[in-house]
Amino acid sequence: MYNSKSMIAEEFIDNEEILTTLEYAKNNKLNRDLIESILSKAEEYKGLDYKDAMVLLESDLEDINEKIYSLAKKVKEKFYGRRIVMFAPLYLSNYCVNECRYCPYHHSNKHIARKKMTQEEIAKEVIALQDMGHKRLALETGEDPINSPIEYVLESIKTIYGIKHKNGAIRRVNVNIAATTVENYKKLKEAGIGTYILFQETYHKPTYEYLHQKGPKANYSYHTEAMDRAMQGGIDDVGIGVLFGLNLYKYDFVGLLMHAKHLEDVHGVGPHTISVPRIRPADEVDVNEFSNAISDEMFEKIVAILRIAVPYTGIIVSTRESMKTRENVLKLGVSQISGASSTSVGGYVEKEEENTAQFEVNDTRTLDEVVNWLIELGYIPSFCTACYREGRTGDRFMQLVKSGQIANVCQPNALMTLKEYLEDYASEYTRKNGEKLIMQEVNNITNDKVKNIVLQHLEDLHSGKRDFRF
Ligand code: SF4
Ligand code: SF4
Repeated sequence: MYNSKSMIAEEFIDNEEILTTLEYAKNNKLNRDLIESILSKAEEYKGLDYKDAMVLLESDLEDINEKIYSLAKKVKEKFYGRRIVMFAPLYLSNYCVNECRYCPYHHSNKHIARKKMTQEEIAKEVIALQDMGHKRLALETGEDPINSPIEYVLESIKTIYGIKHKNGAIRRVNVNIAATTVENYKKLKEAGIGTYILFQETYHKPTYEYLHQKGPKANYSYHTEAMDRAMQGGIDDVGIGVLFGLNLYKYDFVGLLMHAKHLEDVHGVGPHTISVPRIRPADEVDVNEFSNAISDEMFEKIVAILRIAVPYTGIIVSTRESMKTRENVLKLGVSQISGASSTSVGGYVEKEEENTAQFEVNDTRTLDEVVNWLIELGYIPSFCTACYREGRTGDRFMQLVKSGQIANVCQPNALMTLKEYLEDYASEYTRKNGEKLIMQEVNNITNDKVKNIVLQHLEDLHSGKRDFRF
């Protein structure tokens, strides 16, 4: 029986309820009155429930799709302005005891070189990332209680925060590690992590069990209930996602929104971020096995509807996607992207000498190229990490987003952190473009006091001072 407040996975992600929702959406896909009323509801910027969102996804009326896209753009502009937050993944270890069929790190894969970085190697990777200009990382590691126990992850976080090379610093470490215990989540919280990220992969239990036949990840309930344990452990920013292409995308779309509703109903805070990875080729992963891959058009529509269904949640897209696709989804709602990513263990220092990659990167540009591309598209690349450092997490953060006030801090923080990037890392060409953008955008700050502070800090940054934030 569906119960969004239940703490049991199969009750807050209820199979029957998802199937009923899919049927309801199918039966109403041409129901203009209903669809128009859903769009009017969405125009209040308070989000949509999974049922309404699914009707929009199912409907294929051209004028309705146009309205969805235009509303998604408005929601994005209202809540996030034009800033796009940058991050990079950092792979610590690819030892893994699980057998996920879609991931080359699965235990029985003998082709892949196994590698676990020492703290010295991590330090070198972090310096390489800092020298590119990155300030925000997403830590990734396979699940292995012997090779990468929680103590190793905690020590690595400490190492990462401790490295200060030239003007560089990693100011926010988000963590994407396997589902774990409340005790371990408490330890991660104490280590000062930003968001805890864990992808569900698929909410469809039989498919989940087929894809994960061995190892701790095979336990659907333990995995699905991980975010509740993370929140019980004090982590109030969590990031969810599904791997599109593993199962019927409509089922997972509803599951994702049900999960978001569950977190909000139980903990009072919805997901901080939603990631929308699509499956990519990799060693020992046969993408043809996953016949539910979604088209670019459907991918864009999913992003647009997520944008209007959960306006308070950041949407992340990685370098799995091509430049063209990233450009399209940026317009429709993506607020955070990775740049110049390596998906290999140690890949920022040693360029892919050994085959340790988790998936093939599609967008292979340098960070400077990505930054310049964003500027030329009219976005403000942001290296901001202010919220969690200012204690704006969980409920406090959500209130700011829901009231639309977050854009008032995102914009100036984006300008100041971009300036920092331009001073320290940008090519001449990007620097010129960026300076021009900053000067235009400063004038768009409506609050005079804030504008004057930003102008002062831009000068301070030019004269060598660093790390300003609102
Ligand atoms: Fe291991 Fe994660 Fe890959 Fe599964 S997805 S095999 S848990 S690294
Ligand atoms: Fe993110 Fe907060 Fe910075 Fe805005 S101000 S970019 S929400 S960290």
